[in-house]
Amino acid sequence: MDKLIKGTAADGTIRFMAAITTEITTEAIRRHQTSPTISAALGRVMTGTLLLGSSLKEFDRLTVKIECEGAVKGITAEATTDGKVRGYVKNPHIELPPKDNGKFDVSGIIGKGMFYVIRESGFDIGLHREPYVGSVPIVSGEIAEDFAYYLAKSEQIPSAVLLGVLLQNAEPFVKASGGVMIQIMPGANEHIITIIEDTIAHAPHITSVISEGASAEDLVKLALGEIDFSILEERQIKFECNCSFERAVSLISSLGHKEVASMLKEDKGAQMTCGFCSEIYTLDEADLQKMLETSAN
Ligand code: ZN
Repeated sequence: MDKLIKGTAADGTIRFMAAITTEITTEAIRRHQTSPTISAALGRVMTGTLLLGSSLKEFDRLTVKIECEGAVKGITAEATTDGKVRGYVKNPHIELPPKDNGKFDVSGIIGKGMFYVIRESGFDIGLHREPYVGSVPIVSGEIAEDFAYYLAKSEQIPSAVLLGVLLQNAEPFVKASGGVMIQIMPGANEHIITIIEDTIAHAPHITSVISEGASAEDLVKLALGEIDFSILEERQIKFECNCSFERAVSLISSLGHKEVASMLKEDKGAQMTCGFCSEIYTLDEADLQKMLETSAN
């Protein structure tokens, strides 16, 4: 199963998070049937959201939302504190030719736009606090740089973010997916920062090491080089949506008696697709009949 770790180095002045997300990206692609470039973009955004979520405190649900002018139009990923992530894109099937270096043209499908980070809390105890929303313009469109820019501008945390998705032509279509985030805290030694910058500049691409079997811990080594670090937390992560048949029923029921009666008469049922995970819920005549009887009371 996919895994996320976090920890510190250099007396707590360096924080890191790293994750292998190969299964998560595979599941998202299977559900949304995304084109290769969109698959890479969605995998990077979901991985970045998990890493960012594990580093921020006081929220139940962290959402990263990209709204953009490029052909994909929008990408949304949502992570919970217990390691669940889900995500979707507005236009899953569009595709662009690869860039000159052979890489996916992720910035090409994103273009200009805004990068939002939304933190919500209080659900568990029945509170509905105003969500905290931070936003920055999209500076790169390659995703990792946009997470780093958000951290620097909105949270005042200089960081290095590496995210990658490697695809292949046969199932499972994702060969490797993962990422690492290094955050520089106040008081960090300049010499240590230089070592990290230098290590990352000369590091192999993370997807090539993940496809060779690297763990989340190996990704941290790839970014920190010779610097000692300690892992403080390790958790399993997975793609999981909180939709259910009961939720589909309550959403359709909320359309009102008249609308449900017409669905029963004209369509002999109703169908609802979850936008976040593409799960399809089918309500038959009996389900709608029961709904009408309940709402009549
Ligand atoms: Zn769902």
